[in-house]
Amino acid sequence: MRIAGDVNGSLTSGGRFTLDLVALKANYLALQRHSGTAETAAVVKADAYGLGTQYVVPALVAAGVKTFYVAHIDEGIEVRKLAPSARIFVIYGAPKGTESVLSAHKLTPLICSAEQLDRWGQHIRKTGAPQAYGLHVDTGMNRSGLTMTEARLVGMHSDVLKASGLCHIMTHPACADDPDHPLNPKQIAQFQELKSIFSNIESSYANSAALLSMGNLGGDITRPGIALYGGEALNDVPNLMKPVVKAEARIVQIRHAKAGETVSYGATETLKRDTKIAVCAVGYADGYHRSIGLKHVRNGPGNDTPRAQTEHGDRTEAVRNAYGVRAGFVCGALAPILGRVTMDFTMFDVTDVPDAQLDEAQWVELFGENIALDDVARAGGTIGYELLTSLGRRYERVIVNG
Ligand SMILES: *Cc1c(COP(=O)(O)O)cnc(C)c1O
Repeated sequence: MRIAGDVNGSLTSGGRFTLDLVALKANYLALQRHSGTAETAAVVKADAYGLGTQYVVPALVAAGVKTFYVAHIDEGIEVRKLAPSARIFVIYGAPKGTESVLSAHKLTPLICSAEQLDRWGQHIRKTGAPQAYGLHVDTGMNRSGLTMTEARLVGMHSDVLKASGLCHIMTHPACADDPDHPLNPKQIAQFQELKSIFSNIESSYANSAALLSMGNLGGDITRPGIALYGGEALNDVPNLMKPVVKAEARIVQIRHAKAGETVSYGATETLKRDTKIAVCAVGYADGYHRSIGLKHVRNGPGNDTPRAQTEHGDRTEAVRNAYGVRAGFVCGALAPILGRVTMDFTMFDVTDVPDAQLDEAQWVELFGENIALDDVARAGGTIGYELLTSLGRRYERVIVNG
């Protein structure tokens, strides 16, 4: 099903964003297999990682998702409209004054400080009924959550807490993308301790990276986000998730420039040969970051060491390199970026693409099936998460629904 545009798009947008809900569901089922006996939830914060809550949540409900995690209360309210009977956990917790809004929308806060816990207790006394909540315990992020010391203290009353609505214990791994990191066993040991303190409460540890590398780790429910959306969760291993998003830029002009001429702002790119240029109508305002076109940006260990060549399945093997992919894909070939990415335009070298083929091509793939999301992210010194969540609003959307 296409909900916007025809095959060649509406002609009024510069970019096209194809969201493949069939691939999304396949990724969910794959993650379910990794979860083993644990329930597999879906993290849909930040507008479902930029893909669009209104498309992603109904597709995931249809795929069997019963539990969602969002960051903020407003996100939870949006998800509640789309998933009336799901459980919705709010990672942000219950900031002062939000208690009754949370209850009104049947959102379950993951309480992340002793102060929030006190106020939630007052809320329960005021309403005169248990109100579902979870505890977010920090075991190594120093981002949010009760300290282990606080968790041990309140854990002495875990039966009382359970009677008041405590239904979930959660902690978040800092280094699961790097399974050999020494922080992993430390956090896992603290999670085991939490499980024994709150032995009668549902527990959760695994994000995408932990789930893919270590399974559910004894948690009752897993919390993948990025892997659902086809992004890389683990460093230096093949990404077996299917790409869910394809981003494309419309070719608005083909130019012929001579060797020695320069391209784009700063004249940083001097053409070494006579060059055929595809001028495309997507730029950094569309989340195609300026840094993707800057050759000095490096990612990987130490930020300036080439990332090891890794096999990445046949889909992207041909286009993968140590620094990511600084190119688009058109007519079966890579088209390198020429010069700086600008706000609304990016120029690609299509000299090697025959004119006849180029006449037919109207779009250059920025990432998708032929160029992996994370290879483009690497070229810009960032990660797939950031690329997806900054795609911007100007893309025409095409929804593939099977
Ligand atoms: C974002 C987030 C997740 C999902 O992480 P991914 O790396 O995208 O799988 C899980 N749990 C918490 C608490 C999060 O903030």
